[in-house]
Amino acid sequence: MSRTALFLDRDGVINQDNGYVYLRHEFKFLDGIFDLVRHANTLGYLVVVVTNQAGIGRGYFTETSFATLTKWMVAEFQAADAILHKVYHCPYHPTAGLGKYLKDDFSRKPKPGMILQAARELHIDLSSSVMIGDKETDMQAGITAGVGKNLLLAPDQHPVSNMAQYQQISSLKEAFEHLSNRLDPRLSS
Ligand SMILES: [Mg+2]
Repeated sequence: MSRTALFLDRDGVINQDNGYVYLRHEFKFLDGIFDLVRHANTLGYLVVVVTNQAGIGRGYFTETSFATLTKWMVAEFQAADAILHKVYHCPYHPTAGLGKYLKDDFSRKPKPGMILQAARELHIDLSSSVMIGDKETDMQAGITAGVGKNLLLAPDQHPVSNMAQYQQISSLKEAFEHLSNRLDPRLSS
């Protein structure tokens, strides 16, 4: 049986994107993120993080420091009764990666590798799933993978017209209705 997932970008969706965040004291959770994940859990979504972490490939921080921060992040959600089921990250960079990290990898957004891997491993039905990101590259990854609904969190931007393939939201709160609508066939458009 396949499941529905909520895919979340990390920097700019879960935490403030201050650039290459890898220390706990730099990690500031966005308002409403715990509520959103808890709500998604209640509706039956798997919640899966898909995050580019080229800071690893660039040598700014290590796989170990990323893993330590991730473990703490997942525990913070858990303490708020919100479950992140899995975290995928891409450490590579096509031009600035050092050594083995210099690679145009299929897992690096805007490519869809992380989402496709999650779908395989966790038996996710992508067409009924939702992606939330704060960059066009997140939207491209979701669209290419076949995610049914792609939401661009862009609080400071005026809504852009002519976006057939994704929708813009101005807050995480706004994502609630999109999640509910997906699971209720009477409301889905
Ligand atoms: Mg981001």
